[in-house]
Amino acid sequence: MTGADGRSGAPEATGAEADTASELPGDSRCMPFEDCVAGVKSALQHPTVRFMVERMEKAGCPLPPRMFRVMNCTKLDHTGSYGTGLGITVCCEQVGIQDDINQILIHELIHAYDDCVVKNLDFKNCAHHACSEIRANHLSGNCHYKRELLRGFMKIRGHEQECVKRRALSSVRSNPYCSETAAKDAVEAVWNICYNDTRPFDRAP
Ligand SMILES: [Zn+2]
Repeated sequence: MTGADGRSGAPEATGAEADTASELPGDSRCMPFEDCVAGVKSALQHPTVRFMVERMEKAGCPLPPRMFRVMNCTKLDHTGSYGTGLGITVCCEQVGIQDDINQILIHELIHAYDDCVVKNLDFKNCAHHACSEIRANHLSGNCHYKRELLRGFMKIRGHEQECVKRRALSSVRSNPYCSETAAKDAVEAVWNICYNDTRPFDRAP
């Protein structure tokens, strides 16, 4: 496993990784690796990404120098991941346009933020993972109208919440510590609290 920063091998992980399910349309996964690396650099200038980074610093968790890894992941079903002690991974074969990268970074930064501000956050705990996925899918814009149209999921009413729930469930299901039933129960149990928890934003951006 070699990241764009030339590092090979992953550092010791202290927690389970929170993978992000991929639902991008197949034909959009075609960004060349070098463009993806450059895309991650430019995503760091995206206003929402900058805001998240600033909030992490304020919360006492400045980003370590090797926070971001860019790679072609072998697993084809996720776009990115965050792991305690591992930082954020962007899976380049899953991105097509700059906006994909911006959303991956925002999504994973929400996990990093939660890991920073929530005491004893444990991604092996299905409810903790579910809460962070609900927030990350809600606050990253993963479920904005246009994205849902592209994926072919579209209903007039309530599509955003349905999308957040579907994607959160898909990620928690892929957590080796959570069974299908445990994942479903966890998402339902924490839904209201976590969907309405928009920190560090005043409301969902
Ligand atoms: Zn996630």
